[in-house]
Amino acid sequence: MPNALEQLLLPAECLLCRALLSFADADRTVCPVCRHRWRPVLPPWCERCGQPEPLFGGCRLCTDWPATLRRVRSAVWLEGGAREAVHALKYAGRARLADDLAAAMSGAMLRGWDDAVLVPVPLGPARLRQRGYNQSERLAQALGRRWKRSVVDLLVRVRDTHANGVDTGRSPGECGGGVRNAERRTRNAERKAG
Ligand SMILES: [Zn+2]
Ligand SMILES: [Zn+2]
Repeated sequence: MPNALEQLLLPAECLLCRALLSFADADRTVCPVCRHRWRPVLPPWCERCGQPEPLFGGCRLCTDWPATLRRVRSAVWLEGGAREAVHALKYAGRARLADDLAAAMSGAMLRGWDDAVLVPVPLGPARLRQRGYNQSERLAQALGRRWKRSVVDLLVRVRDTHANGVDTGRSPGECGGGVRNAERRTRNAERKAG
């Protein structure tokens, strides 16, 4: 957190609305008003992919998913500044946003998975050099602190994704390529772990 003098001379402002952050919020990047606009995704939802329940019939979004992908949840809808926040974390070097986003995600912990660990999705070497950090690793660390879970590097990226990659604000049903890619990485990890 910045000290009082730094806060007085260089008051921090909200990344989204540019309002000055109070001293209590000086270590955050998004003000309480903007964080409050992030609308949680709530049940009823498909137990597997977390999409809100369709009115008729079963969920068709996750029927083609690989069997290894058993449960997916989205924390908030990508609206009301949440999309801008995700993009700033990924493309504008705002690594500290991971703490605010992890706070929004922390209510989505899966019950009954008490011995689960957090596994970040790795970046390719070129992307990691370009970005300077792996946003998934930052989110996992921030969530791990909140959930008191270990963060373990188990995955190996087998190919780079293009600039607007598989996890850029798409719903689970839209990211089939990423799912297949993730599965390969998971199998790699299983081989590594076994
Ligand atoms: Zn704001
Ligand atoms: Zn589904």
